[in-house]
Amino acid sequence: MPGIPLRNGGPAARIAVIPGDGIGREVTPQAVKVIRAATALTKRPIEFVEFDWGADKYLREGISLPPGAVEMLRDEFDAILFGALGDPRVPSNQHAADILLGLRFKLDLYVNARPVELLHDRLTPLRDRTEKDIRLMVFRENTEGLYVGVGGFFKKGTADEIAVQEDVNSRKGVERIIRYAFEYARQNGLKRVCMSDKSNAMTFAHDLWQRVFKTVRQEYADIDSRHLYIDTLAMEIVRDPRQFDVIVTCNLFGDIISDLGAQLAGGLGLAPSANIHPGKTSLFEPVHGSAPNIAGKGIANPLGSVLASAMMLEYLGWKPEAGALRNAVRAALRQNYVTPDLGGDKRCWHFYLRFTNCVIIMPSRNPPMCAHQATPPEALVPSALIPARNCRRNQYPRMMTAGIGIRKTNTSVRTRARGYSSMYAPMTPEIAPLAPSAGTVELRLKRTWSKPAPSPQTR
Ligand code: ATP
Repeated sequence: MPGIPLRNGGPAARIAVIPGDGIGREVTPQAVKVIRAATALTKRPIEFVEFDWGADKYLREGISLPPGAVEMLRDEFDAILFGALGDPRVPSNQHAADILLGLRFKLDLYVNARPVELLHDRLTPLRDRTEKDIRLMVFRENTEGLYVGVGGFFKKGTADEIAVQEDVNSRKGVERIIRYAFEYARQNGLKRVCMSDKSNAMTFAHDLWQRVFKTVRQEYADIDSRHLYIDTLAMEIVRDPRQFDVIVTCNLFGDIISDLGAQLAGGLGLAPSANIHPGKTSLFEPVHGSAPNIAGKGIANPLGSVLASAMMLEYLGWKPEAGALRNAVRAALRQNYVTPDLGGDKRCWHFYLRFTNCVIIMPSRNPPMCAHQATPPEALVPSALIPARNCRRNQYPRMMTAGIGIRKTNTSVRTRARGYSSMYAPMTPEIAPLAPSAGTVELRLKRTWSKPAPSPQTR
């Protein structure tokens, strides 16, 4: 019996989860847990179905994207939460091309939205720039350009070898992404759209971009639109990112400029992205790849995936939950509760415990609760998860409340009470949506707290 997505009247939002390879398999489960907790609190109906597509399956069975997969995702799911693909055992990266590019092309996910937003001043490498200076959206065309795989070799392997890669640009494809960028600006009260190309060198493909841009911009007289060559854009975005609200560009340039933007806003570990076809099954993923060099060490930053999840919840129309996730990320960054890529000592799984507002009733008498040690989250398997608002203080002597916004007193943090640490997180407006029950439950972790992480500047 095929599932019916929420958008077609099904009982729950159906999310396909594809963790993929490398750190995708570490960050994605954490994001799923955070989404579960946020939606449970507000009683949003959501269902996750996980798929094991990735390098392991490809090497084991020779299957990358199984037959019928695209149709199933298109007809039976509202969204896809994606991790990352790439594995040194598959040097050709064939499975990644089949799965990720396959889904982008076959689901016609023509909008790749990559927000560049500085969430804490100390995270940018730019001097004297603050949160209010770095806030823009990059729209990358996602179904055409140099990524379509049209090309070939001639006399391969010889001294006379020739390699050709075609840059494919259709009028329809260029027009719809430029129009989407203008519409996004208008709907979000943003005043500036910049289209970027290399039409001075790519005199055919990007001449088309020029002509389409000039036509479409006429419909948006209320928006200040401009054009920059991509090399100039790269310079300007570093020199003064305040100039930009919305950038729209082709597939290749969008890939590059959004990675540049990611660094301006704190690095790849924090950057989210959405692959969208409005009204249809769309795919949400962190910008980073599978990062084999850190895979399996537990140090991957899950916040890019959590922020991508926020984009997904917003796409489903669930803005309060999306906002709660973003605010929880902001609060963590503000308190320097971060993984090593941002100068901290937190592990990938710590964030779930921090973000969620559920009470975990531990099954054993003396549970391993040392959150700062390398205790895998599996060791903390809860016997029950219940919303914190259903508990009274001290009702469960061995419970562990995983969450922020749990406050008994006005003290923000208490430590070392007979070998235990009790934490009362400050109730800030940002975390309030995640903690409607503040004041009812206390958080008790055995020797939880380590020293605050050094900021990237002091590393
Ligand atoms: P791809 O080509 O698959 O997009 P990439 O070349 O952009 O991948 P990534 O795998 O994304 O490379 O990562 C580059 C480096 O950035 C990694 O080796 C890792 O050190 C760091 N990095 C990326 N994502 C994270 C993360 N979530 N947490 C911590 N470090 C990360």
